[in-house]
Parts: sequence; C-alpha cells; structure tokens
Amino acid sequence: MSNDTQVVIVGAGPVGCVVALILARAGVAVRLLEAEPKLVQDMRGSTFHPPTLDMLDELGITPKLIEQGRVTPTFQYRDLDDGLIAEFDLTLLKDDTAHPYRLQCEQFKLTRVIAEMLAAYPHVELLFDARVVAITQTDSQTVVEYDTPSGPENIACKYLVGCDGSRSTVRKSQNFGFPGFTYDEHFVTVSVSEDISQIVPGMDDVSYISHPTEWCALIHVPQSWRFLFPVQAEISHQDSLAEGYLQQRMKRIAAYGADYSITHRTIYSVNQRVAETYRRGRVLLAGDAAHVNNPLGGMGMNGGIHDGINVAEKLVAVLNEGASDDLLDKYDRQRRPIAIEFVQTQSIRNKEMIEEADPAVRRQRQDDLRAVAGDRQRSIEMLLQTSMINAVRQSRSIE
Ligand SMILES: Cc1cc2nc3c(=O)[nH]c(=O)nc-3n(C[C@H](O)[C@H](O)[C@H](O)COP(=O)(O)OP(=O)(O)OC[C@H]3O[C@@H](n4cnc5c(N)ncnc54)[C@H](O)[C@@H]3O)c2cc1C
Repeated sequence: MSNDTQVVIVGAGPVGCVVALILARAGVAVRLLEAEPKLVQDMRGSTFHPPTLDMLDELGITPKLIEQGRVTPTFQYRDLDDGLIAEFDLTLLKDDTAHPYRLQCEQFKLTRVIAEMLAAYPHVELLFDARVVAITQTDSQTVVEYDTPSGPENIACKYLVGCDGSRSTVRKSQNFGFPGFTYDEHFVTVSVSEDISQIVPGMDDVSYISHPTEWCALIHVPQSWRFLFPVQAEISHQDSLAEGYLQQRMKRIAAYGADYSITHRTIYSVNQRVAETYRRGRVLLAGDAAHVNNPLGGMGMNGGIHDGINVAEKLVAVLNEGASDDLLDKYDRQRRPIAIEFVQTQSIRNKEMIEEADPAVRRQRQDDLRAVAGDRQRSIEMLLQTSMINAVRQSRSIE
C-alpha cells in the first residue's frame, strides 16, 4: 500500500480532511499525516458560509454538520454605545444558494465527520503521531520524512498537499515566501454557558459589535456563546486570560449581574499573509498553510475548504484522467488572487470598520449600513460578498 501512495496530505485539519475525502472518493491512494495523537479539538472556526455548505453537501457532509450545528439566517451589526445598527437576512440569497444561512458548528466537528467517512476507504491511511519534518522532490516524485513515536519514517508519492496550518513545515521546507503582517494586539475567545439573548434581549446569534478598543464578535454555537475581542499587546497572555479580566470585558459587552460561567478561553496572534505561490513542482499548499487572515467575517477555514476542493479535483484529473499537470498551475491562478483580493481585503476592512475611532466616520458607517439594510437589492449585493458567494464565482471564472 505504502509503495502505491499517490498523494500525501500533511495535516488532518478541516482542509486536509476535505482534500483526503475527495481523493478517496475518486479512488486515489492517499496517506494523511497528522502530527497530533488524535484529531485536534479545534474550536477556532465555527462559521460555515453558504457556498461551503453547498460544496460540502455534494460530499454528503452538510446534513451531518447541520445535525450538530446551529442554523443562523440573520446577523447583526451593533455599536457598543449605540446598540443595534442593522440586521441582515441571508434568506434573501435563496436563489443563489441551497443553504441561505450561516451554520455555526465548531470546526472539529467537520474533521470528525470526515475521519469517520474516510474509514470506509481501504486506499486511505490516516496516521496520527506522524509529524512531517522534511520534504524533498525530484521531477518524478516527492519524498516525505516524518517522525513517529517508534522512530523516523519516510514515504514517496507523486504529489504532496501541505494543509499543515499557519506555521506550515511544508511551506517552509520548500521556501515559499509568506509575506504580510502580524497585528500588534492579540485576539481572545471566551465561551460561556449563559444565553446572551436572555441577557441582552434581541442580541442575534451572530453579532458584530463595534468600538475603537473594545469591539467584539459574538457568536452563538450549539452549546455556548463565544466572545471574540482584542487585547492590547502590553497585557500579558496570563493577564489576558485571567478570570477577573475576562468577566469585566464580557460584562462591558453584555451586562450581567452575576459572573459568567466560562467553559473555554484562548488567546491568538493574528496575521494577514498569503504565500507567494501555492505550487512548487509536486508540492501544493492549501488552507492556512497558504493564507491567514483575521477571523472577522469567518473566512479562513471557508476559503481553505474552497482551496482544498479545487486542488483535490485537479489532482483527480491529473492522476485519474490523464490531464496535464499544468492544470495544477490553474489551482494557483484560481485561488491565490481570491485570498489576496477578496479574503485579505475584506477581513482587513472588517477589522478597520469594527474598530473605527473617528466618531464622524463611525456615524457615517452606521448610516450606510442602515441604508443598505433598508434596500433589498443592496442587501443582496452585500450578502453575496460577505457570504463568499462572489469569491467562489470569481474563482471559478478564472481560466
Ligand atoms: C479565533 C478564531 C476564529 C476563527 N473563526 C473562523 C470561522 O468562523 N470561520 C472560518 O472560516 N475560519 C475561522 N478561523 C480560521 C480557521 O480556524 C482556520 O482558517 C482553519 O483552521 C484552517 O484550517 P487548516 O486545515 O488549513 O489548518 P489547521 O486547522 O491549522 O490544521 C492544520 C493541521 O495540521 C497539523 N500539522 C501541523 N504541522 C504538522 C506537521 N509538521 N506534520 C503533520 N501534521 C501537522 C496540525 O496538528 C493540524 O491538525 C478562525 C480563526 C481564529 C483564530
């Protein structure tokens, strides 16, 4: 089996798992290498956008996510001082998608669903405790070296897809540049078991609350509500996650008479970066290994899944249907500009808007949002953009 492996995928996060499933369904022999001893219980991403749900539906995944997630057709823009500004309703997109809503479902549920599906394919190996450390490639093959608890191993394959996240060993090993920048402040996420819609009546399941320094994205996932807010770089990680500090930050967003019951807390550094290419010979990058962005708008994993589906379909065409491997350059052409022109631009703008400090600009933005929300056609145009439907259409139109 090992000698026949056609594709090695590094990293069993959401993107690596999606790539593996598409290759598995096409009969391609795959080895999926994951550094951790089991699937990571990653709570970072929870927003699945409509086009992602449409794509995952074709793989039989979406109903299994809906069972474990929370369907949220609307979302709100709020201001910490001024309250509700505007609400948008994704059901306006019912002619553009079979899933006119966001699904809130923690990303680890996707990897679990796919891992179970992969077990049905004898030509797929999912190996844990397998940390890739080096990659070499020639004109005809790629050799992957990885560490295991019983010592180093290696495997040759035709193509390798690096889905190993933002610190990607694959990306570094092949000297892909990763230009961009890191935000000074850190981002904290805190999950609580209280129902925020009872504490702040009318608070929507997805609410973006603007403020120059204390902005917050508030998301209702099935078993909890999650606050995401910035913490200045001068505050240590330990102080940023201290109980008293978190309680005070959350109560500023949603005033509560008692202490919140915190079920989870994490702090992140956040980058805006895109790899200078997604392909070097037989090595391809997808997901966070290829691009990273701030979480406002929930586009990192979604865009990564769109990459994963695109690259996997092209690999199937090359390996099974005799397509020229120049087709893999098209993957780079179709996906990299989307990461730069759409995801980077939109996520940077989302952050600038939610933290706008100039009161006049803030007011103007609120007026603009109210005007768009009051106009059906302008709402649809905005929702096509924020739901990533435009990004997917643009990507598919590139030759
Ligand atoms: C607070 C926060 C909230 C977010 N919310 C959203 C959201 O709502 N929607 C959204 O679309 N995105 C969101 N994101 C972004 C999202 O979490 C990432 O874009 C997503 O996890 C990328 O998936 P991936 O599979 O590319 O990489 P990862 O999820 O990072 O997975 C990489 C995998 O590779 C493994 N690995 C790493 N190195 C090696 C190695 N050398 N050998 C073998 N395996 C290795 C890791 O263990 C891991 O399992 C959020 C991010 C943050 C920080």
